[in-house]
Amino acid sequence: MRVDVFTIFPGIFESPLGQSLLGKAIAEGLVEVRVHDLRRWSTDRHRSVDDEAYGGGPGMVMKPEPLFAAVESLDPDRGRVLLLSPAGRRLDQALVRELALEPHLTLLCGRYEGVDERVVSGLPAEEISIGDYVLPGGELPALVVIEAVTRLVPGVIGKEESHRRDSFSAPGLLDHPHYTRPPSFRGMEVPEVLLSGNHAEIERWRREAAEEKGRRNRPDLGD
Ligand code: SAM
Repeated sequence: MRVDVFTIFPGIFESPLGQSLLGKAIAEGLVEVRVHDLRRWSTDRHRSVDDEAYGGGPGMVMKPEPLFAAVESLDPDRGRVLLLSPAGRRLDQALVRELALEPHLTLLCGRYEGVDERVVSGLPAEEISIGDYVLPGGELPALVVIEAVTRLVPGVIGKEESHRRDSFSAPGLLDHPHYTRPPSFRGMEVPEVLLSGNHAEIERWRREAAEEKGRRNRPDLGD
C-alpha cells in the first residue's frame, strides 16, 4: 500500500513513521508513506497556503490552489483522496477495513479554520473525521488513519489471529479482557478458568466477559 500525505508540518510524521509496527512495515516495503510539504505548491514568495475567509471571521482558510496542484502532481495515480476534517464521516473499523483494501491513499491535512470547500467538491476529496472533537490540525488524524489502516495490510501484523479478534472485528463486539503472568498481583487474581486449560470454558468466559465490558463501557453498541 502507498500513502501520500500533504501537510504544512511534515516534521510531525518523522517519529511515528520510523518506529514500531509502522516503522517495520515501511522498512520491509509492505507500506510506503510519502510525506510532502504542501508549501512546495504555493506560488507566492511568502509560500503562503492560507487566506482570509470570504464573509468575514477571525480565522484563516487553506487556499484551494496549492492543494489542487499538490494532488494533481500525483496524477494519474492519486488513489482515494481523503481530507481530514472534524465535519467528515467518522472513522470506524468498517471504514478502516474498506480503506485497507485500497492500493493507494492520499491524505490532506487541514490547519487554521479548515480548507476551502472547493477541495471537497472539486478534487474531489472525502472528508474523514477521527471523532467528535476538534484538533488544531489534520496531522495526528492522518497518523491515526495510517496506523489503523496499515496494521490490516497483509504481513504487517505477524499472526492474522492478533487482529481477527480485536474490538470491532464484528459489529458491536469488544475484545475480552487479557491477563498475563503473574497469576496473583497485589491481591488481584487471574480468573481461574484461564488457568484451567479447558478451551471451551475459556472461550465461553471470554465471550461473556467481552459482552459484560461492552455493557459497562459502551452501552450505545447494544442499540
Ligand atoms: N473549523 C473546523 C470545524 O469546526 O469543523 C475545525 C478546523 S481544525 C481547527 C483544523 C484542521 O484540523 C481541520 O481542517 C482538520 O484537517 C483537522 N482536524 C481537527 N479535528 C479533526 C478531527 N476530529 N478529525 C479529523 N481532522 C481533524
